Amino acid sequence: MNWFDYLVWAWIAIPIIIFPILLKIRVPYGRHTTSGLGPMIDNHWSWFWMEVPALLTFPLFAIFGPTEKDVLSWVLIALWSLHYINRVLIFPFRIRTKGKKMPLIISVSAAFFNLMNGFVNGYYIGFVNGLSGDLFHIISLMGIIIFITGFIINNIADSKLITLRKQGNGYQIPRGWLFKYISCPNFFGEIIEWIGFALVARNLPALSFAIWTFCNLAPRAKNHHSWYKKYFSGYPEDRKIVLPYLW
Ligand code: NDP
Repeated sequence: MNWFDYLVWAWIAIPIIIFPILLKIRVPYGRHTTSGLGPMIDNHWSWFWMEVPALLTFPLFAIFGPTEKDVLSWVLIALWSLHYINRVLIFPFRIRTKGKKMPLIISVSAAFFNLMNGFVNGYYIGFVNGLSGDLFHIISLMGIIIFITGFIINNIADSKLITLRKQGNGYQIPRGWLFKYISCPNFFGEIIEWIGFALVARNLPALSFAIWTFCNLAPRAKNHHSWYKKYFSGYPEDRKIVLPYLW
């Protein structure tokens, strides 16, 4: 093992260790924001600054690193860029949270998280192994389909939530489509996306990102779900948290 392998294993261990803690706390942004955590930053720009490290680091390390790259590695670069062009350049300017702020400490932690994910994934392809495998292997094709399905679900769900905010004042109960089954289809889509990416890449850094995403978003979905139930007395009883029919 070299320094990079140690780093990636450590990066995988962190979310697994903190998962039980994340299930017990509320990360304070969005509906769970609190003002007692020091300086605050505008919500739109916070999203931009905390996600931009991932948009830059992965492609820069992957493309400009010395390894020879195969088609599947270019597909991975394209999938990553598709997700982060939306998350950095489109999503922050679509959300309708005028005047809302987020604790700076959350933005800085999230920026570090994105920097690390972008770095370990990009460094692996650019400096360790640029040969990701056969594009037409059944697992690669399944991974691409799963990623794109997750991306579409994540975007439709985010768009529906953004539209909901536009239609009324403040928070409302989202209804219809996947909201019939789960409280947070946007998180469900994002979890699926990075599982798909890990299936295409079949390397440890991609696995680390899929684990991180689940460990970040499953507790946040649980918090959203209990928040909905507390905030709206008529919240649908049979709706699950984030995994349709399961949890
Ligand atoms: P949320 O679902 O909390 O919010 C998404 C947007 O919709 C926000 O602007 C929110 O406003 C608004 N909104 C949500 N629910 C309602 C409602 N019921 N009524 C009216 N407006 C609503 O998602 P997050 O902000 O936590 O995350 C945004 C995106 O980032 C998601 O796609 C998520 O998957 C992704 N993400 C990925 C992570 C990862 O580890 N890969 C980690 C965190 C997020 P407000 O902010 O005011 O609540």
